[in-house]
Amino acid sequence: MAAQETVEHKYVYDFAEGNKDLKDLLGGKGANLAEMTNLGLPVPPGFTITTEACKAYLTTGREPDGLAAQIEAHLESLEREMGRKLGDPQDPLLVSVRSGAKFSMPGMMETVLNVGLNDRSVVGLSAQAGGNDRFAWDSYRRLIQMFGKTVCEVPGEEFEHALDDAKRAKGTQNDLDLDADDLRGLVDAYKKIFAKHTGREFPQEPREQLDLAIRAVFESWNAERAVVYRRQERIPADLGTAVNVVAMVFGNLGADSGTGVAFTRDPGSGAQGIYGDYLANAQGEDVVAGIRNTVPLQELEQIDKKSYDELLDYMARLEEHYKDLCDIEFTIERGKLWMLQTRVGKRTAAAAFVIAGQLVDEGLIDLDEALHRVNGAQLAQLMFPRFQLDHEFQPVAKGIGASPGAASGKVVFTSARAVELAAEGESVILVRRETNPDDLNGMIAAKGILTSRGGKTSHAAVVARGMGKTCVSGADELDVNVPAKKFTVAGQTVNEGDIVSIDGTTGKVYLGEVPVMPSEVVQYFEGELDPEQADDALVKAVHRIMTHADEKRRLQVRTNADTGADAARARRFGAQGIGLCRTEHMFLGDRRELVERLILASTDEEREAALAALLPLQREDFIDIFREMDGLPVTVRLIDPPLHEFLPPLEQLAVNVAVAQERGEDVAKEEALLAAVRRMHEENPMLGLRGVRLGLVIPGLFAMQVRAIAEAAVEVTRSGGSACPEIMVPLVGAVQELETVRAEAEKIIAEVVGDSGVEVLIGTMIEVPRAALTAGQIAEAAQFFSFGTNDLTQMGWGFSRDDVEGAFFWRYLELGIFGISPFESIDREGVGRLVRIAAEEGRAARPGLKLGVCGEHGGDPDSVHFFHEVGLDYVSCSPFRVPVARLEAGRAAITTTGSDSR
Ligand code: ADP
Ligand code: MG
Ligand code: MG
Repeated sequence: MAAQETVEHKYVYDFAEGNKDLKDLLGGKGANLAEMTNLGLPVPPGFTITTEACKAYLTTGREPDGLAAQIEAHLESLEREMGRKLGDPQDPLLVSVRSGAKFSMPGMMETVLNVGLNDRSVVGLSAQAGGNDRFAWDSYRRLIQMFGKTVCEVPGEEFEHALDDAKRAKGTQNDLDLDADDLRGLVDAYKKIFAKHTGREFPQEPREQLDLAIRAVFESWNAERAVVYRRQERIPADLGTAVNVVAMVFGNLGADSGTGVAFTRDPGSGAQGIYGDYLANAQGEDVVAGIRNTVPLQELEQIDKKSYDELLDYMARLEEHYKDLCDIEFTIERGKLWMLQTRVGKRTAAAAFVIAGQLVDEGLIDLDEALHRVNGAQLAQLMFPRFQLDHEFQPVAKGIGASPGAASGKVVFTSARAVELAAEGESVILVRRETNPDDLNGMIAAKGILTSRGGKTSHAAVVARGMGKTCVSGADELDVNVPAKKFTVAGQTVNEGDIVSIDGTTGKVYLGEVPVMPSEVVQYFEGELDPEQADDALVKAVHRIMTHADEKRRLQVRTNADTGADAARARRFGAQGIGLCRTEHMFLGDRRELVERLILASTDEEREAALAALLPLQREDFIDIFREMDGLPVTVRLIDPPLHEFLPPLEQLAVNVAVAQERGEDVAKEEALLAAVRRMHEENPMLGLRGVRLGLVIPGLFAMQVRAIAEAAVEVTRSGGSACPEIMVPLVGAVQELETVRAEAEKIIAEVVGDSGVEVLIGTMIEVPRAALTAGQIAEAAQFFSFGTNDLTQMGWGFSRDDVEGAFFWRYLELGIFGISPFESIDREGVGRLVRIAAEEGRAARPGLKLGVCGEHGGDPDSVHFFHEVGLDYVSCSPFRVPVARLEAGRAAITTTGSDSR
């Protein structure tokens, strides 16, 4: 045996053999069960079958060699430890078979309880429980139900209907009112259902039950809802799940037994205290499924003080040990507490910040670790607006604030309808009594989720929190009638399509659409809330962690802003300059007419006159922005889009001309415009006459802009300010383009600036692949590079964003060609490689070359980490993303312990 094990792969680990760092191999549940076992907490004995065994099974379609024997050996030692044997008709050992992947996927995968019961051992179980027939038959009917549904794909409703029938026959709503005889009858009914759907009898052989259940857990890794969930959560598809086989303990043995879940802090707000739900006389899955209404965990103190105190003690030890919020599943069997699961708990964005701050205060973690434990996506969530509730809005119901945010939308009752309406662009609120994993697609499509049953740990609550989606659960005043597509509350009926608003922070439900107001976090960034004064734990924690991020980060954060107002806001949000000021808006509105004159000019004089009229307008715009950004760099991009974008569309002009001609009006100007539009038409405007090409083709255009920038800088500086303009030339592909523009610009700048002390830099965007690949040459003529990663992505992949995103990205995502749209997060291997090459070769040619990025990737968390790695000086993003970029730049700069924040 020993010799065999050295050549054989080890597929099975006893709980005593594992630890919390073996999640890859043992899954999260197994690794943490092992950890708790080794901490000396009361965990029922058991063993874990590795993810490797699962992967082997999924690739070959059969159990790997040696697995069966290893299971046998571990089962025997479990039997020895428990002093019971699987299937023993006098005193049977029962086990649970539980899935558990590396990342927790709540409710996604399968678990079967009470494995080992059959027609004979059910009698033994009753005898061992002091003649508790009710308990034994209840356990047996649960086994058939879970086994049938999970292992043999018997439709779950059939069992539920049979259960409902039994309750109805008894005249009760409560499953506790069913007695042993009722449950024995139910077992018969379940067996018939089982036989009808599977064509065989319910398996009586315990080892067969066990093997089939293990196989079903393996297979549940590829169940459709698990696949959907992984895609949504970006969990790799090839991890596989482990399987835990655990000796059963029973929460359904009577009033002195029960089961519950607990959090060491509030996963919604992060507040300290005792949070959780308890359900007496029940087995584990009853709590999570929200079948019966639970009582708050505090009430356990009255019910069973000894177990309650013990539980609190274990919770404190677990927090101390994991140095983080833990969530826990436990069961009490006749006054004896058993720990069945723990993990570092999921939490809302607000709780993530608050808890990280508290743990620093408690000395459990340092500020670097606190920074590591929050992320930009969470911060972005906290910057969403909230409901404004001053006047007429009165809640019609109050449930549990299960996942924060404010959501309004049309009521729908089914997942399918949610998907349908969302596809039409509607905001929808999915309303259910409770959700189950089959509702996943609807939950993804909905703006918010509202259920009438279930606590903070119900399926709806857990999944919504994971998605960052607003959710109110357990609003039990709601009488939800799914088949009739309506619910009633406070004497009113709400039908499908009516609008409701739900507040996932307070749990309140409103009829109609409630207006929203900005978040406290935004108010803090705006400088309207003083973090020292605020008695708001969230604002304090955000302030503290942001301050630390700012201290740690190497990347500067600038903003993309085209107006003084945007610039001012971004500055309040912490922007250290403008990385992209587009000048095209300065050609819009009532200035269009001047642009038309410029385009239609047939002589030098006409063109110069049009440019001269534009000059003072542009200068004013720049003065505004330089004042707001006093002392900070402002990168101004010379005009980029094709000029015909400023003219009316061809069809409209053609109609205007025809109509005017009909009326006999003078159409000379319209005709000239029409001719110009026809002449300037491009098949591929994205790759047409734009950017630097415009500047080289239209005499005086760039010169006018350069003059306006320089004059504005001089004026601001002369009046006591400090302007630091950086002129950026778009769409350069060859150094010669840049040299030509630069020669002309330098002459104008020298002339305008004189002895004012203003310094104007000239640099280029790197957004054409050729520019990235010839960056060494281009750097000779450029004082800075700014990566335009939107165009670089378009041209790198050869597709235009506007055309392709809606057309086929879904398919590419489905096929896994993209993990995420390359416009959302930088494609490190391809487009990122261009950035890397250009950065290295540019700096080699010109040491100290200033490097930044101004595409939308500048505000994307993953991309910020990439730009940090590549060694850029700054990222630039829209004003609202500035705090996100600051936070992520800080996170990128700290060396982490590598713990998984998921
Ligand atoms: P999930 O990952 O969906 O939470 P679990 O494997 O944790 O699934 O099991 C589902 C429920 O069954 C949980 O409430 C759990 O506490 C309970 N459970 C699992 N194993 C046992 C056991 N050996 N004894 C008693 N209850 C159990
Ligand atoms: Mg669990
Ligand atoms: Mg561009």
